[in-house]
Amino acid sequence: MIPFLDLKAQYASIKGEVDAAVLSVLGSAQFVLGDEVAAFEREFAAYCGTRHAIAVNTGTSALHLALLAAGVGPGDEVVTVPFTFVASAAAICYIGARPVFVDIDPVTFTMDPARLESAITPRTKAILPVHLYGQMAEMDAIAEIAERHGIPVVEDACQAHGAEYLGQRAGGIGVSGCFSFYPGKNLGACGEGGIVVTNDDAQMETIRMLRDWGQERRYHHVLKGYNYRMDGIQGAILRVKLRHLEDWTEARRKHARHYSSLLAGSRRVQPPVDAAGRRHVYHIYAVRSPDRDGLQRSLQAEGVQSGLHYPIPVHLQKAYADLGYRAGDFPVSEAAAREILSLPIYPEMTSRQVECVVAAVEQEAYVG
Ligand SMILES: *Cc1c(COP(=O)(O)O)cnc(C)c1O
Repeated sequence: MIPFLDLKAQYASIKGEVDAAVLSVLGSAQFVLGDEVAAFEREFAAYCGTRHAIAVNTGTSALHLALLAAGVGPGDEVVTVPFTFVASAAAICYIGARPVFVDIDPVTFTMDPARLESAITPRTKAILPVHLYGQMAEMDAIAEIAERHGIPVVEDACQAHGAEYLGQRAGGIGVSGCFSFYPGKNLGACGEGGIVVTNDDAQMETIRMLRDWGQERRYHHVLKGYNYRMDGIQGAILRVKLRHLEDWTEARRKHARHYSSLLAGSRRVQPPVDAAGRRHVYHIYAVRSPDRDGLQRSLQAEGVQSGLHYPIPVHLQKAYADLGYRAGDFPVSEAAAREILSLPIYPEMTSRQVECVVAAVEQEAYVG
């Protein structure tokens, strides 16, 4: 069996370091925030090339606080994409603001800048592009439109740790960028975690207060805040894992290149496109197939796990029916949701496993 990802293999490769980090937090009793979280914030900011990082408890909380700090309030609109994990839209709704969707580019599956401008209204308070699968959205075009309208861009970089656009790391182009450390992400905690990065001092101060009850100092609540603090143990583990992230990312990219060279010219699937000027970090290796469900069934029969990211775009989810969108509103997203299949990709995977997955993909190519 080839699993979709293998978190046990990752732990086995760094067990000594992780165990020592956990034990040191148990000894220090700094269970919430504390020195390890503060050190992780400095190290992750350096990794992203930003001045600040504020650690929180989930990627969703990171989005929530980043949008609040960017000035989004109840009744405002935030422009994002429907082809994403539901959290991108949920965080907007937490504020009582409204997600306004624009369709994606059919090649990169990220926000189509050509459709962005027509979605902007006087109520638009932020633009939230999603760096889907580990590839950054077309940030030059998005930033140019945002700047012309004076609207801040918040990056949903929850799948894009270390991704780059024209040499700039994810999270550092917008007013802020949000990451998730959910275990399956490229940098994953042993539990939940998230972070906001920013170059802006005022954003940093607001987000830092909001994550810890809006306190300026203890029991002085200047904002209505939240309990979104990161655990000390997660901070310590993330520091260990951050030291391995570049090696892991290069392993993912190597497997992706291997997949794509073997699948070039495939009659059954279309491999993903590594767009020029971007560094794709392959959180997900998604292929496209007109017979996606048939392909997934035949892979299953061959013992190859696969995933769907995501089978229903957010505008067609029952919970978001009140936004008033209908089937047909975002045809590029809807076609992607029908045709996309995620193949196994993780750093500890072997080249042989990549070849086995490709053999399983191709085996029925001429059977019809
Ligand atoms: C994972 C993810 C989130 C949410 O992160 P959590 O840590 O699970 O809250 C938000 N947006 C995208 C695109 C994600 O993939």
